[in-house]
Amino acid sequence: MKPEYTTKVPKTILTKGNGFLSGYSYSLNPYAGCSFGCSYCYVRQMPIAVFRGAEWGTWVDIKKDAAAVLRKELQRAKAKGPVTIFMSSSTDPYQPVEHKERITRSLLEAMADDPPDFLFLQTRSPLVRRDIDVLQQLGDKVRVSMTIETDLEHIRKHFSPYAPPIPARLQTLELLRDADIPAQATIAPVLPSSEQFPHLLRPLVNRVCIDDFFMGDGSGGKRTMRLGVQSLYEEIGMEQWYHPTAWRIVYDRMRQVFPEEQLAVNLSGFSP
Ligand code: SF4
Repeated sequence: MKPEYTTKVPKTILTKGNGFLSGYSYSLNPYAGCSFGCSYCYVRQMPIAVFRGAEWGTWVDIKKDAAAVLRKELQRAKAKGPVTIFMSSSTDPYQPVEHKERITRSLLEAMADDPPDFLFLQTRSPLVRRDIDVLQQLGDKVRVSMTIETDLEHIRKHFSPYAPPIPARLQTLELLRDADIPAQATIAPVLPSSEQFPHLLRPLVNRVCIDDFFMGDGSGGKRTMRLGVQSLYEEIGMEQWYHPTAWRIVYDRMRQVFPEEQLAVNLSGFSP
């Protein structure tokens, strides 16, 4: 599915943190829209998507020259106090078009020149590996959070067919580890996974975040219910995984190989 691309020059790029991002001073979205179009993505119910009048996943706005805007805003924000940034809250900063556009890379370069106090970089794309050199310049002021909702490719394909394959994400965590970039595996939302999952993650990260639809969609699971995600579980006979306690299955499996202090649940797994 090739999305429709529109280029826009943003007036502002840092958005004040609120809601589940209230632990951050700002969120930063290099793109609007998201071509990964995950079935469970609740951004599709937010005003930015609803008023667009086009299906979520079919359009992406490219924020041209965002780095120049960020450089100015960073200076102003840092003069006011500590700056912690969540990138990104309503898109993935590594859209496939980022290969060519390099918007996210230019934002990272701006932050390497004038570092915020902390940057949380949330993605599910192996493309982040391209920017390891810039991430290294940010040292311990950055953490890359790689979403890996399951270790099972057929489950990933069922719930998010346009998102990057799981093996490529695992391999990216390996590269981040070898480059000494602080990183975590983020199992969010929890999808059905195998008993092998903890053993795949153990050599790659020392921090795992676990979150699900019921804790993590900001509405106790109601938003996800409105998206009709339950039927996707029913189609594959995995209804037992669509349950407020299903995350415990994954947590308990992870606990067999990770110490408690390396496992974070819900908001604490996304905190600065
Ligand atoms: S990658 Fe994130 S923002 Fe994009 S569709 Fe999936 S959940 Fe939504």
